[in-house]
Amino acid sequence: MSGALASPMTGEMFELMAEWDGIGVIVRHDAPTGTWIFIALHDDTLGRPVGGCRMKVYERPEDALVDALRLAKGMTSKWAAIDFPFGGGKSVLAIPHELEGAERTGLLHRFGALLNTLNGTYGTGEDMGTTPEDMLTIAQVTSNVMGVEPGSTAAIDPGPYTALGVFESIRSVLRHTVGSDDMTGKRILIQGIGRVGDPLARTISAAGGQVLLSDVDASRVAALAEELGGAVVPAEAVYSTDCDVFAPCAIGAILSEDTIPLLECRGVAGSANNQLRDDDDADLLHGRGILYAPDYMANGGGAMAFGLIFQGVTEDEALKSRVSTIGASLDEIFEESASESISPLVSASRRVERILMAARMPTA
Ligand code: NAD
Repeated sequence: MSGALASPMTGEMFELMAEWDGIGVIVRHDAPTGTWIFIALHDDTLGRPVGGCRMKVYERPEDALVDALRLAKGMTSKWAAIDFPFGGGKSVLAIPHELEGAERTGLLHRFGALLNTLNGTYGTGEDMGTTPEDMLTIAQVTSNVMGVEPGSTAAIDPGPYTALGVFESIRSVLRHTVGSDDMTGKRILIQGIGRVGDPLARTISAAGGQVLLSDVDASRVAALAEELGGAVVPAEAVYSTDCDVFAPCAIGAILSEDTIPLLECRGVAGSANNQLRDDDDADLLHGRGILYAPDYMANGGGAMAFGLIFQGVTEDEALKSRVSTIGASLDEIFEESASESISPLVSASRRVERILMAARMPTA
């Protein structure tokens, strides 16, 4: 077991939880793998907390807790913004090193068993570091996995649904910047061409857009650029490259006072969670006249599809049609933002608050 991850609960952890406005956090140390498990339950106003399971090596368990708290809160906003009857929750498995084979399976089974003790209070799903196969493994011991029926042998990849939601968000950004969502000839720069960025690039390209692709995986990005006739943008030029819309689909906290002054785009719409280093960075973007699609709205497609599947909607066309409504929801945000001279993030937060407030009102 790694020394760093074997640390006991520290004062910093208690402080983090004291400052948090959520329901509570379940903390467990998985002795066989040395993993710290955090299940953060943020809000259950709209329904039971549901959100993905992140598996990652952190330098300190405190960093994993920060991630869990922030991501769970983000899920409350995401479910409310897309008007789905779920609450905000997220789990983080802070592993001491990459786990494979029996070690990984054992951890996932014990995590599933832990979910069973919560009697359905929290539902999990895929997130960074976990795969559809991991969800199948967890589902061997619990029914609390979104998008997977107990005992099933296939798990749904949320990536293409998330990509569709981002595509519709990009079209909304174009409508509100250049006045038309016709993709022909539009230059869309995608940072990260993984499970979301890859299908997004293909959809944009099929719609006539020009894709500019950037990824730390040089061979993957070169192959996709060649296939789609797109251009490769080196990592050091990703923020300063001229484009119509910048789509961050890799890591969070990339929009900051360091990078926003460099941007040469009309708008930003991507799948990465927590794209802003700080909420005030939304004002910096607004001040520069760059239209920002709040991440928790633009990347809600996968969550939306899983929510629908959970409600019994399984037909692919029905799922896609509902995910496509993300564009119309963003239109409303951008219209309010323009008419009241506020950033789209402020407008989106108001929408979230309105929906939560309405749900909290006692019914007559
Ligand atoms: P992924 O791991 O499949 O792909 C990420 C890609 O980004 C990889 O190709 C990786 O090489 C690349 N990358 C990593 N660091 C980079 C960097 N610094 N610069 C450029 N490229 C980099 O992940 P994904 O499922 O495609 O998700 C992408 C983002 O969207 C993540 O932030 C994730 O949390 C978020 N998200 C994903 C979904 C989903 O349905 N998969 C849903 C909501 C949000």
